[in-house]
Amino acid sequence: MYTEAALPESELRKRVQQRIKEGRLPVAFVRLVNDGAGAGGHACPVCDQPVKRDKVEYDIDPRNANHHLVFHYPCYLIWQRVCARRIRAGERADLGDQQR
Ligand SMILES: [Zn+2]
Repeated sequence: MYTEAALPESELRKRVQQRIKEGRLPVAFVRLVNDGAGAGGHACPVCDQPVKRDKVEYDIDPRNANHHLVFHYPCYLIWQRVCARRIRAGERADLGDQQR
């Protein structure tokens, strides 16, 4: 199941951890908005590569249109796996309201 991700899984996991620390990705389980073939133009928040196909779109915060992220499917899976581990470890799930 290796589609568009340009980086090995270990590197992606490292980037996810870093994005979470920077506040660019929330620690949360998110709701699927849309998946399927994309027109491109969005940069994946995990690997910074443009998402052209096999994209997965997620609404991070339904109240805020700017919190709409588009991931590569493998990047999304790794992000959610990291979130699951952190949430299980007791970190509060939030929806991008940190640093306020
Ligand atoms: Zn990606």
